[in-house]
Amino acid sequence: MDAGATEADAVEGVHDGESYSICLDYPTMSDITCTRCGQTREGLASPPFPTELGQRILGSICQVCWKDWLKQQTSIINHYALDLRNPEARRMLTTQTETFLFGTVAKS
Ligand SMILES: [Zn+2]
Repeated sequence: MDAGATEADAVEGVHDGESYSICLDYPTMSDITCTRCGQTREGLASPPFPTELGQRILGSICQVCWKDWLKQQTSIINHYALDLRNPEARRMLTTQTETFLFGTVAKS
């Protein structure tokens, strides 16, 4: 536990994606330290998914990396001919999202 981090500093004070704490009071489009590229840049304006993963992306992935993923996602969908109405295809894409952005799939 990092006792030194105040609420306002929560986003910048953490560099390890595994022990991440998201400050939900943070205003939108704030700078975040991206766990993927390590740069401090603008984050997303809102969670890309209404899930825990979406919150994690919002709090720790920069816009640049997110755009990288969107490009990658398009090629994955084309490559595997994914039908996103299929829950299994969506699950696979979620796993790919997490792997691409965070390097590993979190165990919970
Ligand atoms: Zn990044």
